[in-house]
Amino acid sequence: MIRIKTAKQIAGIRESCHLLADVLDTLEQQIQPGITTADLDRTARAEIAALGGRPAFLGYQGFPGALCTSVNEEVIHGIPGERVLHEGDVVSIDCGIEYNGYFSDSAITVPVGTVSDEVRALLDVTRRSLEEGIGAAVAGNRVNDVSRAVYRVVSEHNYGVVRPYCGHGVGLELHEDPQIPNYVGRGPNPRLKPGMVVAIEPMVNLGGDGVDVLDDEWTVVTEDRRVSAHFEHTVAIFRDHTEVLTRRRSETPHAAAEVSVS
Ligand code: MG
Ligand code: MG
Repeated sequence: MIRIKTAKQIAGIRESCHLLADVLDTLEQQIQPGITTADLDRTARAEIAALGGRPAFLGYQGFPGALCTSVNEEVIHGIPGERVLHEGDVVSIDCGIEYNGYFSDSAITVPVGTVSDEVRALLDVTRRSLEEGIGAAVAGNRVNDVSRAVYRVVSEHNYGVVRPYCGHGVGLELHEDPQIPNYVGRGPNPRLKPGMVVAIEPMVNLGGDGVDVLDDEWTVVTEDRRVSAHFEHTVAIFRDHTEVLTRRRSETPHAAAEVSVS
């Protein structure tokens, strides 16, 4: 069941998303060689508590962190711990906040110091695929239009697209219908309507599409152990425009995604 949100609910989700955007900006600034992913998790817990929210991932299906921290070949759902970040690594930080009962979800992949040109390009293309997906997430389009927009950018560069995990509705719960794959599949293809709030989240691999889950039963890694990138925004769909609710202050706005459509 796809939940259409009221204006009041969207206002609440927006507040949660704005807090999350600021938390991600704070975490990004902390990232440098020598810190651990547990350091990032501690910061996230403190920041979210200071803002009056609750880390939405903590305890979700038993997940032990406030963040998912996924380094290099780790795609998503990495557990924060004593892994030290080194120059040239990338780390995906995925976070959700519950604030006054409203949920937000957003992720960024951040270079640690200087990364290779190859990895830099992967991050740029993944970010661009997210923006293209957001650009297609307008009222009247269908889920497949978003999937196709993401996939087109990624496939132009011959990167792998993670298939078993996808974007989703969000806002009153952490994960709601509909699912939003990053490729055009044969699953449900509902029309996007005003009042829908969705998380769009391309997961893109330098190598092949395949992924494994590690023995910790959480961490998803690339099958070929090559680097993966992940960016995610929560967006609200209105009749005449789409709003990126988790846009960060540090981020350059991408006009194409945020202009009104006639
Ligand atoms: Mg997320
Ligand atoms: Mg998500």
